[in-house]
Amino acid sequence: MIYLDSAASSPLAPEARAAMLEVLGGPPGNPGAAHELGRQAKRTVSAAREQVADLMRVGTGAVLFTSCATEANNLALSESFLTADRRRIVTLATEHASVAQAAAALSSRGADLWVVPVTNQGQPEPEALAEAINDQTAVVSIQAANNETGVMPDMALISELAHDAGAVLHADASQLMAWGDADRIALCDLITVSSHKMYGPQGAAALIASRRLQSQLQPVLVGGGQEQGLRSGTENVAAIAGFGAAAQLAKTSGAAASSLVAALRDQLLAAMVASGISVRDHAAGTVRLPNILSLGLPLGLDGEVVLAHTPSVAASTGSACNAGTPEPSPVLKSMGLSEAEAEATLRLSLSRFTTEHDVDQAARALTATMRSLMTSIEPTQLHQEESLTI
Ligand code: PLP
Repeated sequence: MIYLDSAASSPLAPEARAAMLEVLGGPPGNPGAAHELGRQAKRTVSAAREQVADLMRVGTGAVLFTSCATEANNLALSESFLTADRRRIVTLATEHASVAQAAAALSSRGADLWVVPVTNQGQPEPEALAEAINDQTAVVSIQAANNETGVMPDMALISELAHDAGAVLHADASQLMAWGDADRIALCDLITVSSHKMYGPQGAAALIASRRLQSQLQPVLVGGGQEQGLRSGTENVAAIAGFGAAAQLAKTSGAAASSLVAALRDQLLAAMVASGISVRDHAAGTVRLPNILSLGLPLGLDGEVVLAHTPSVAASTGSACNAGTPEPSPVLKSMGLSEAEAEATLRLSLSRFTTEHDVDQAARALTATMRSLMTSIEPTQLHQEESLTI
């Protein structure tokens, strides 16, 4: 099976697997235990913390391990950032559900939620963004890279707006850090990093937060006081070890992998276009991740149906969290796509392990399915006049 679903969960890097196997094959030990095997587990967690800190260019004290990015996002959106004068929380219309819903929860507890709309390229509407961030804004939470389209907002500009207004800035960088691009989010105050979107295992993630801001965070889980009291619960030592190895990989070769993967993504799009089927790149011409291709198909085709008829390709139509729901992607709809256009979409997401052969085979298989499905659709239902965009 050709795997084009790395935005949902990336393949495990051999380095991460080796680090995990060393823990799983080793002695037992809870990092909180006072004996030597406990201390050994604690050293493993500390080493991984150093690797994640090194990738993010922060001190180890700023790394709070969590079980997933959802948890890190929920931890970041703390009610205690809200004061009498600052009740506003600003997010983007295309945020992942874990930010959107955490922000909605704050709003139900009295926060003034502003959801900034996006352009048809998925970038924040500049005027709406500038209007939203002011001296009443407590927190701005904007994704560093979108999980369906790969679109990357200008975080330097957003940092400037947020900090000039005295607001705290959180960036969900779950999809970004596989490419080692710490520069892009360097000025953010709180950053979510996810292991399984950067060739590490599921079950580990981190929130990066300065000690000053940590004192304002409210734990999602309380109990034994691990992670500065902000994430109680025994650490998932093997997953954290794998996460650390993945962070090191991203730091040393993420940027180099990024250019190779971007070339493969372009090759995939070119192969689809060359098939003669009218397809559209939803994020064409804007700043975006190297690995995600949100591909509009001729109207009348349903992305889910195309994938169901192409068993050799593992891909998605949108966010894994939205999969199985009949609702078309809110991300694509907020970019101005109609329900029919959003339904006629595939999200093809590559990884550093994708090969040219994978790309050619996937393009061949997907276009063959589309061609055969198109023969059963009335010609008037098919939307062919869209220009092809590379
Ligand atoms: N944020 C973004 C941008 C994501 O893509 C995802 C996962 O798809 C998450 C947060 C949540 O990650 P998890 O389900 O691992 O908690």
